[in-house]
Amino acid sequence: MAQPKRFLFFGAHPDDADSLFGGTAIKLARAGHVVKLVSVCNGDCGHHLMRRAELAARRYLETQAAAAVAGIAEYQVLDNHDCEIECNLENRKEIIRIIRRFQPDVVISHRAVDYHADHRNTGQLVMDAAYLVGVPRFCEDTPIPPRAPVFAYSYDRFTDPRPIRADAAVEIDSVMDVKLAMLNCHVSQYYEWLPFDKGFKDFNHLTMTAEQKRDWLLTHWGVRFQTAADLGRDTLVKTYGDKGKTVKYAEIFEFSPYGRPMPADEFRVLFEP
Ligand SMILES: [Zn+2]
Repeated sequence: MAQPKRFLFFGAHPDDADSLFGGTAIKLARAGHVVKLVSVCNGDCGHHLMRRAELAARRYLETQAAAAVAGIAEYQVLDNHDCEIECNLENRKEIIRIIRRFQPDVVISHRAVDYHADHRNTGQLVMDAAYLVGVPRFCEDTPIPPRAPVFAYSYDRFTDPRPIRADAAVEIDSVMDVKLAMLNCHVSQYYEWLPFDKGFKDFNHLTMTAEQKRDWLLTHWGVRFQTAADLGRDTLVKTYGDKGKTVKYAEIFEFSPYGRPMPADEFRVLFEP
């Protein structure tokens, strides 16, 4: 293969990358590209029963299990408390150092429009890094990579001020089972906190079969990637031809104008192995 590409995803929490980029990451990793996932928070507020330190430790193990399932090189979790991510200088420098050290071709994160303050601020921090990552007198302790990365935003469902644009759309039907296996590693979230948060009072994953868990994940979270496929239908057809018409699940990405410029046709296939 040609030179492997390097992909760096910043999610706010230790399951966002899996959910928003997991399928694409699996395909890229299988093809020999280098994928690194980062959670900017340690996940220590994402539970109704567990204490914070214990939860952060558990969620770290969940990320490592998910990375192993997906064959992803590295899943880093930064030690910031949940619900407390701020767009401050310290965090800006930390994000820039991670980008410079990893030397990615592509950096992906949330848009800065989202329901969760941590998602918004993570998106803002990464957007702030897009230009500053190449400024030589900023963070002088970490050398600037030879080539500036392209920046992109991952799927969200928010429409104010406008819905996300599917500048690239990756079919994930072919790896959906592995993506679900990644989500299945985040037991504290998909089987404990999220059912509680959504009001499923008698939910008990301990009595569920593997098949029932798969159905639960598909019904409640898989549906987002059906919506993403529909949003990105035109792009799927451009990318995969007629096969794009029948893709059920997709992950979509919007080009960010703040990083390295790239022609639209090139960006459309950037995430293809
Ligand atoms: Zn999150």
